Amino acid sequence: MMQKICLLGATGSIGRSTLDVIAQYPEQFELISVAANASVARMAEICRQFKPKRAVMGCAQARDELAALCADLDTQFEWGSEAMESIASDDCDQVMAAIMGFAGLRPTLAAIRAGKRVLLANKESLVTAGRLFMDEVAKHNVTLMPIDSEHNAIFQCLPQNEFGATKRDVANILLTASGGPFRTFSYDQMLTVTPAQACAHPNWSMGQKISVDSASLMNKGLELIEACWLFDVTPADVQVVVHPESIIHSMVAYKDGSVIAQMGNPDMKIPIAYGMTWPARIETNVEPLDFFKVSQLNFEAPDLERFPNLKLASEAWYLGGTAMACLNAANEVAVTAFLKEQIAFLDIARLNQRVLEHSEIKAVNDLEAVFAADQEARALAQQLIASEFA
Ligand code: NAD
Ligand code: MG
Repeated sequence: MMQKICLLGATGSIGRSTLDVIAQYPEQFELISVAANASVARMAEICRQFKPKRAVMGCAQARDELAALCADLDTQFEWGSEAMESIASDDCDQVMAAIMGFAGLRPTLAAIRAGKRVLLANKESLVTAGRLFMDEVAKHNVTLMPIDSEHNAIFQCLPQNEFGATKRDVANILLTASGGPFRTFSYDQMLTVTPAQACAHPNWSMGQKISVDSASLMNKGLELIEACWLFDVTPADVQVVVHPESIIHSMVAYKDGSVIAQMGNPDMKIPIAYGMTWPARIETNVEPLDFFKVSQLNFEAPDLERFPNLKLASEAWYLGGTAMACLNAANEVAVTAFLKEQIAFLDIARLNQRVLEHSEIKAVNDLEAVFAADQEARALAQQLIASEFA
């Protein structure tokens, strides 16, 4: 059966891998709508190749430029967050949520409320809205497919049907981390690293924000929280294991001592294709894993002294309420400032900690609480950058 796909964040790294899968199976997937922020030229290419019905850009100017480039197409060109929510809930079967950061929350929730199959790459939306997000998933009976490679792996390693093991048989989750480009750097070396160094990930090619997050281990912190919401566990049930080769994408340990791992070459097309076809599988054009080429798999404990973000994420989970939205907001501001070379790399975690300490943590009873916490934490982070970090 043909699946109609809405792709949010079409011009990004996950967007590109998703388009590769769609292009490989034109008889199975149809790209019905797309959204992106500002990359007009790339969006024009996508519209020419896939001819979606609707294309949404972040602002009116980007929409106008795109419409001018693609005047001969039948695509309807729109802009703004309401239009993004509209395509996510319009005629489609699956929504790939691959917008970067907190900006993805509203359209992802719109997809959930419309009962679509949601392919979740945009971890920040789940991290910040947590309980509300999962309540909506349950209420609308949504199939939520984790696309983050680790969570996709955990999903594959957990018991999936009524036969055999159950969740009660799980001992713990082993969340793997590459360790990022600064894994072997000393603290002193980390004092002076540049955005270009932070964005040069050893195993994955990704957007800038998640690349910096991988370098600071904030990505693993966000993923720890993501795992807690997705799989109904707490940080005490999740052990972070640094595994520099990124061949094992995560593992589940069972009470009898068995450990089940999901492996493969590091390519996001694998979790994306699985998300789109689950419970079936399709071929991808990813190179098969060759163990003789890999030859060695290594493991080590994360260093929380050099990478305090991981500890902060766990603290935010136990603080609960708006703490996770505050931490995420602080981090988004910090990463932007680091990329603009306004603060140093190690300031990212320091700023995150300061914002978390100085935010008033409130209960999350509605979405407004999440947005208010996000705004306050952003303002506080900006203020701290101006007064203490610049
Ligand atoms: P990216 O920077 O390459 O792309 C981001 C996409 O979001 C772009 O299409 C951009 O136009 C769009 N976007 C950004 N701000 C927007 C806004 N305000 N409104 C609408 N669209 C906006 O990022 P990416 O690496 O593709 O990551 C996207 C999401 O997937 C992130 O949440 C990231 O954490 C997650 N993720 C990525 C990877 C990966 O391998 N790249 C792996 C796991 C999870
Ligand atoms: Mg990941």
